[in-house]
Amino acid sequence: MIFQGKARHPVTEIIFHCADTRPDWMARHLLTEKVAEIRRWHVQERGWRDIGYHWVVDRDGANAPGRRETDIGAHVEGHNRGTIGICLLGGYGASADDPFAKNYTAAQAEAAKQLIADIKGRTTIRLVSGHNDYAAKACPGFLVARWIRHK
Ligand SMILES: [Zn+2]
Repeated sequence: MIFQGKARHPVTEIIFHCADTRPDWMARHLLTEKVAEIRRWHVQERGWRDIGYHWVVDRDGANAPGRRETDIGAHVEGHNRGTIGICLLGGYGASADDPFAKNYTAAQAEAAKQLIADIKGRTTIRLVSGHNDYAAKACPGFLVARWIRHK
């Protein structure tokens, strides 16, 4: 199991997000630089102590860690304890019920599936959801439950 924070909340859920970036955003930069830019948005512009997400998945399917999995994230109001936040790069202009492939690449689909499997190997995941399951937002730009059923 993965436990978060001092109170050791067990991690039981994965929640997907998008970066709300265009497909070619920082395209010539390394993924670590993209993660650093998102961290800067969250730390400097929002005043958080670190990037809000635990994982970031690039357009080419590479992934990089954000906040440590053992730290409580900052990605869904009221649902940060015991959840892992995964951010997919892209999603700019997306609607909540778009097909996954409208806003993301096949490599991202593969990487996201692998990341889910990896996390399930470390803790007991009971639910894989999206930001739009908890808030009136488009993020992550697809219906996670539908995508999970058909992936
Ligand atoms: Zn989100």
